[in-house]
Amino acid sequence: MDYKFIIKQRMEGYTLTSFGKNLQECSINEKHIALSKALMEEIVPPWRESEKKFKDKKRAYYLSSEYLMGRALSNNLINLNIKNEIESLMNDIGVSYNDIEEAEEDAALGNGGLGRLAACFLDSAATLDYPLTGYGIRYAFGIFKQKFMDGFQVEAADDWLKYGDPWSIRKEDEKVRVRFSSGEIYAVPYDTPIIGYKSNTINTLRLWKAEPLEVFNFKEFNDQHYDLAVKEKNDAENIGKVLYPNDSNDEGKILRLKQQYFFVSASLQDIVRNYKMNHSDFKDFSYYHAIQLNDTHPTVAIPELMRIFTRIEGLSWEESWNIVVNTFAYTNHTLLAEALEQWPVKLYKALLPEIYDIIVGINNQLMHELGGRGIYNSEAYQYEIIQHDSIKMAHLAIYGSKSINGVAKIHSDLLKDRELNQWYRLYPERFNNKTNGITQRRWLLQSNQELSNFITELLQTDSWITDLSKLKDLERYINDENVLRKFLDIKQIKKDQLAEYILKHDGVQIDSKSIYDVQIKRMHEYKRQLLNAFHILDLYYRLKEDPNMDIVPRTFIFGAKAAPGYFRAKAVIKFINDIANLVNNDSDIGGKIRVVFVENYRVSYAERIFPAADVSEQISTAGKEASGTGNMKFMLNGAPTLGTYDGANIEIVQEAGEDNNFIFGLRVEDIMEIQSSYNPYEYYNGVPGLRRVVDSLINGTFDDKGTGVYSELYDSLLKGANWHRPDNYFILKDFEDYRNAQQAINDIYKDRINWAKRCWMNIANAGKFSSDRTIEEYAREIWNIESTKQEVNIR
Ligand SMILES: *Cc1c(COP(=O)(O)O)cnc(C)c1O
Repeated sequence: MDYKFIIKQRMEGYTLTSFGKNLQECSINEKHIALSKALMEEIVPPWRESEKKFKDKKRAYYLSSEYLMGRALSNNLINLNIKNEIESLMNDIGVSYNDIEEAEEDAALGNGGLGRLAACFLDSAATLDYPLTGYGIRYAFGIFKQKFMDGFQVEAADDWLKYGDPWSIRKEDEKVRVRFSSGEIYAVPYDTPIIGYKSNTINTLRLWKAEPLEVFNFKEFNDQHYDLAVKEKNDAENIGKVLYPNDSNDEGKILRLKQQYFFVSASLQDIVRNYKMNHSDFKDFSYYHAIQLNDTHPTVAIPELMRIFTRIEGLSWEESWNIVVNTFAYTNHTLLAEALEQWPVKLYKALLPEIYDIIVGINNQLMHELGGRGIYNSEAYQYEIIQHDSIKMAHLAIYGSKSINGVAKIHSDLLKDRELNQWYRLYPERFNNKTNGITQRRWLLQSNQELSNFITELLQTDSWITDLSKLKDLERYINDENVLRKFLDIKQIKKDQLAEYILKHDGVQIDSKSIYDVQIKRMHEYKRQLLNAFHILDLYYRLKEDPNMDIVPRTFIFGAKAAPGYFRAKAVIKFINDIANLVNNDSDIGGKIRVVFVENYRVSYAERIFPAADVSEQISTAGKEASGTGNMKFMLNGAPTLGTYDGANIEIVQEAGEDNNFIFGLRVEDIMEIQSSYNPYEYYNGVPGLRRVVDSLINGTFDDKGTGVYSELYDSLLKGANWHRPDNYFILKDFEDYRNAQQAINDIYKDRINWAKRCWMNIANAGKFSSDRTIEEYAREIWNIESTKQEVNIR
């Protein structure tokens, strides 16, 4: 039978049995579910086969509190190599594929880069045929949906499961119990297939849902205590209710701690249960398992595995510790001191007393070990896992892991030389670097079909899709004007498409012939969206003074969510929206500059913005951005970086050539030198135009509706606060250099071919930044797992 016919039949069957109507009568959401379910019928058999082929092999497990997956449909169709057929089927039955695609809610179970990295890693591992299982939490609500009212961010619940989640399967018979001092709950697994690109592997993302042991208390209900009858259910389900939309520090402490222990305990119980099906003792445990901790959020895994071994399985402490250290590996994601996770001892004691005991045991062992090396007292104190009243999760993670890695070279070096130097001196062999990457399947093949096709045509092979280093061969076209013009044409197509989308979704008309200058990432002081905003306002004032100023029209595009309790970040959103309002409505400017802050920035929006960008804004204070991955998505789509020497920007310009990018500002060494004597007033008063834009925060230019957020922002720059010095992120110091770099972009952009060459060099040298490369490094250097590429065919 014809393939399309089979899929259609399945869709029709599904709509009848699930929605009680014919396919034609269904809403677009129902059609989307029906198609996805029809595809699941296709996916599950090879998924089960794939599971079997890794049976006797070492496997890796990724423990992450976040997965920023985005949409699944197009990604799955591309990886299954059936997208054209399905598009044609939708056409046959009179449904717009685009509408179906747009009907899918993003699975936004993450905040930003860290969660998106987890998603890219899963894609790469499946594509490369590595056995990697993701474990996490099935949050009922992902990162909040963002709206603007009067320019202020307003948050709404992200009810992503409203229409159901066709891509996951509940595995009732594999649920486990998780115990807190306050009682026991179930962790019920929901499995989502992770389909490799034309590969032989379908891996699993297993997310745990929190449920009560008893869903309904009949006696309480009968006694007319209706609230109490469902109290246990509500308490349990609250654990998996929301992703903490907090990028850096923790709130809602107890619930957050419950979440961490909940998914970690469930995952380890699952791993141990599977192991015991084929093994009668634990001596080979670390031979078969590598468990990667994505930041410190899952670090409670270290004492939890100790608990399982010593208190349930009857192993000795020494043997258990040996297995634990050889099983875990820890990835550090931040250099921000305030973001290093710590937990009040009293919380652990109250909620997880057994785990607390074990942490004390681990700390005692550490102190003993340090003593053996002649390290005592104050010198030993800097290693303590329990300091004063808090538990330092990074110390626990480092002491309990065989590998500690940073996520870009400069970041790993700074960990070794500064933040974690004491640990580096103790265990130099544990420290290593794994520069982050992104999957080219989603961030080029899927989101920029036009450029993908062109690359394949030029290379006469599509092998770049699974080996991004092949892009290097594009360098041979660097002086081919036809190729460069074709690239510019494609960029224009993507810019037109984005303009149309922005008009429809954000109601802002932009000039698609202007330079698209883009900063999309979480809103945070260290990422310095405020520096970008000051530059725009300065440009605006200069244009007002000199309407004939010769500039290439420019559209400044922002996308960012701010943590709901992070007032300064929210103030910057309001400030940029106010600037947009001022600039976009001033006819004197003649449309030369426009500002648009897109609402609800997320993966599916990102897929439309990266391909259309001309300039990649990566302007964090040097030493603050661990790696960045947005920078790589821009590069891959041919947008030069306007950035500081920070995170992976450094490696990006090393690969693509500093001349092909725009580097400005203080470097880490400069900051170390000046920070104690830094006086922002020097720049506020001394740099032409700077005072004018900073003062706009307090002189009535803009109205923060009596909230006081603008004057607070102003004070943070010039007066500081009790927790930081004035202008902690050196915005005023870097302003002039940034403005000069922006001027250089304006001048070079005019020469279209010269500009296209720079873009082209970025594309041709993006190979290093594939998450395939990163995953290969993890697999070989940390996990010791083997690929099954070319072994068995599961389809
Ligand atoms: C890639 C990505 C990020 C990370 O961006 P950075 O610039 O590296 O901070 C955040 N959010 C989304 C939706 C992304 O796709």
